[in-house]
Amino acid sequence: MDYALIINGTARKTADYADVKNPSTFEVVGRMPLGTPQDLDDAVAAAAEAFKTWSVTPDAERQAACHAIAAKIEAHAEELAQLITAEQGKQLNGLGSRFEVGGTAFWTHSTADLQLPVEVIQDNEQGRIELHRKAIGVIGSITPWNWPMLIGSWHLIPAVRTGNTIVIKPSPYTPLSTIRMVELMNEVLPPGVVNCVSGADSLGAVMSAHPGISKMVFTGSTATGRKIMASAAPTLKRLTLELGGNDAGVVLPDADPKAIAPGLFWGAFINGGQTCAALKRLYVHDSIYDAVCDALVEFAATVPMGDGRDESNQLGPIQNEMQFKRVCALVNEAKQAGGRILCGGAPRGGNGYFYPITFVADVQEGTRLVDEEQFGPVLPIIRYTDVEDAMRRANDNPLGLGGSVWSSDVSKAKQLVQRLECGTGWVNKHGGIQPNAPFGGIKQSGIGVEFGPEGLKEYTVTQTVYC
Ligand code: NAD
Repeated sequence: MDYALIINGTARKTADYADVKNPSTFEVVGRMPLGTPQDLDDAVAAAAEAFKTWSVTPDAERQAACHAIAAKIEAHAEELAQLITAEQGKQLNGLGSRFEVGGTAFWTHSTADLQLPVEVIQDNEQGRIELHRKAIGVIGSITPWNWPMLIGSWHLIPAVRTGNTIVIKPSPYTPLSTIRMVELMNEVLPPGVVNCVSGADSLGAVMSAHPGISKMVFTGSTATGRKIMASAAPTLKRLTLELGGNDAGVVLPDADPKAIAPGLFWGAFINGGQTCAALKRLYVHDSIYDAVCDALVEFAATVPMGDGRDESNQLGPIQNEMQFKRVCALVNEAKQAGGRILCGGAPRGGNGYFYPITFVADVQEGTRLVDEEQFGPVLPIIRYTDVEDAMRRANDNPLGLGGSVWSSDVSKAKQLVQRLECGTGWVNKHGGIQPNAPFGGIKQSGIGVEFGPEGLKEYTVTQTVYC
């Protein structure tokens, strides 16, 4: 099936298309329209026109529109979940595509209910000063392939809620669920408020330099984030950048290995490890190192991986060839550096980008598997003897998205987690996020936050009014 661009509320065919393939089977799922710079210009012009009325539409109407979008998503939940599984590969059940669609609807309702009321800074005989938050203009959104619909909604809904209009460019690996979501949104919204122009990476570069766009919101790799920041500079676009992570978890000697194993496992391997704030480096105290390794390997054996359309699977494939090759290379390098494979360690073979759950023990910093983001079903487990040393090593990384400390002593873990250099810290869990709590990276993991009132503010500019 050929999908279409959505510009000014209308489906637009393109001259060229690219196949979108299921990473479990390599079957063609649909064809992505390859938008051109002219299509992007038209989408930006439509969004600019729509901004004139959407930005002054009463807040209650915009709130109601967001709830109506959530209801549309709920009504089409199974169709959307099947589409995500087909193009992204993740399984339908567990923390898979039905979870992603449910999360999208839940986040949309929650974001609809957020408010940014006028703040009164001063009101006395010297005068009254109010702080107003106003929509910015046309927003450009670029999304990745790991949680295509959920992350798309994290860009689109706060933009729409606050009176902006937006053009989204989904990842070329997983564009179809975003196109379908934008179609559904256009059943609710006036034409031009939300537009979708899919295409190659080069279209993203054109978007981030586009003079008609006032803010870029980007979720993806740190390398691409740098390029977007550079090309946004000449027009001083506002930026929200949600970039890569290499989250450390530190397991203290008093932790109970069997009790923490499921939390560690899903913290690392939600979506097969293809999650920005997944646990990516695990530091375990020498005294319980072997017990934690054993408990993790035992738990991994209970989690079925396979074609996402099979209802029994709990994990799917790696999404694309580039990422698959990267995971293979990182594991091979770690083996050469003395890493001990506890399970997995080589691709499964046959159809699909399947790589088994892999734990690599006895690795250290200096190996890419530890130093860089692997973004796949592989976890390095690093031995330490001194907690202060583990904390130093956990922080000695340019990325700073999330981090966790695992212990039977929650107050000690809480103190330590606050010393991790990251935007979100967890105690005895890893990776959970909510629509009412800000989420974002520090250091080279990004700029700005999403979610909650803090996230919503990023879609506004302030105006101070003396009256
Ligand atoms: P990517 O950076 O390769 O691609 C992301 C998007 O950027 C795609 O839509 C792509 O077409 C576009 N793009 C590529 N080159 C571009 C350019 N020069 N200018 C503008 N756009 C361009 O990332 P990916 O491989 O799709 O996603 C994986 C990465 O995303 C990982 O590093 C992961 O940690 C990160 N991520 C971060 C978060 C977060 O919230 N912090 C969430 C999910 C994923």
